[in-house]
Amino acid sequence: MNTASHEAATRVHNFCAGPCTLPVSILEEVRDEFLDFDGIGMSLLEDSHRAPAYDAVHTAAMADFRTLAGVPDDYAVLFLQGGATLQFAQIPMNLLADGETASHLNTGAWGKKALSEGRRVTDLHEAWTGVGEGFARMPSVGEFDIAEGSRYLHVTTNETIGGIRLPAYPDVDLPMVGDMSSDFLSRPIDWSRFDLAYGGVQKNLAPAGMVVVVVRRDLLGRSGRDLPSALDYAVQDANDSLANTPPMFPIWVMGKVLKWMIAAGGLGEFERRAAERAALLYGAIDSSDGWYLSPVDEASRSHMNIVFRLPDEDLEERFVAEAADADMVNLKGHRSVGGIRASVYNAMALESVEALVSFMAGFRAAND
Ligand SMILES: *Cc1c(COP(=O)(O)O)cnc(C)c1O
Repeated sequence: MNTASHEAATRVHNFCAGPCTLPVSILEEVRDEFLDFDGIGMSLLEDSHRAPAYDAVHTAAMADFRTLAGVPDDYAVLFLQGGATLQFAQIPMNLLADGETASHLNTGAWGKKALSEGRRVTDLHEAWTGVGEGFARMPSVGEFDIAEGSRYLHVTTNETIGGIRLPAYPDVDLPMVGDMSSDFLSRPIDWSRFDLAYGGVQKNLAPAGMVVVVVRRDLLGRSGRDLPSALDYAVQDANDSLANTPPMFPIWVMGKVLKWMIAAGGLGEFERRAAERAALLYGAIDSSDGWYLSPVDEASRSHMNIVFRLPDEDLEERFVAEAADADMVNLKGHRSVGGIRASVYNAMALESVEALVSFMAGFRAAND
């Protein structure tokens, strides 16, 4: 057995909600290049972020992100630190002038956090909340209560913990700002609808340590606030995200993932693969006569984070433990909601989902 296939054979099926599973071929490439990158005699991670080796990686990652996501020229692509969590506050700092407001959809744990963190900066309006319904569905446009004068509507395109997604981007007559962290680049994005979209890269694209922000360039500097330079989009854009030392490791790996995605056929192909994985898993849930139960509204079901319940919590605990024994790990639902969560991001192979579905059938047969 050669080394590569041996290592692939010992890897588990990783259903982690974030950080995510990454393509084995890319992990192997990183391993092979790790000590001596492209003949420079050191790791890329030890070299200057202003040196030619890193510059080529950085520039290619920017260009490939634009190509893959179809980002128009009048939008900036920013590679930033602080995760999606910092964006909750950094977005109003950059996009809202003193006295301006925005409306937010509170669709789950992340929508709620975007609102509460943003409110540390300025007054924001809750245009809808799913709290009374256990965050089991996404709302439709007719239910939105958008505050007059709102500069934008903030949406969470996929709620990672609750397991719901916006099946389509809402058709509203104001620009949107989208937290796309957990379905970033898993489907095509209609940029004409978004002033800004952002995603922590650890859910679909790379190791943790970075958030990608795509923002309409004519909005940069519009808040008129005197921001610390590290928080000012205009400063980062003017410096191609090199105003200070960038997160070189996630950028390096993401660059490889982007090339892998482009070669595989782009966002349409990844949307198709996600739908295929989701259909397989929801099919297994729906055909179990309620033994496995999806707690969320069918039209809002996530294609990335598939949550389900078993008849009782003891069974759920055993399901997670026995699945782990069968090399299927990180299936425990978020501690705030319980149950099971299978996160099936871009790099999740269909075979891993098939393995889970077959485990589900066996577990039910043994315990029904
Ligand atoms: C994970 C996640 C976040 C938080 O991301 P960090 O990079 O950990 O700050 C925000 N929003 C959504 C939808 C997420 O899934």
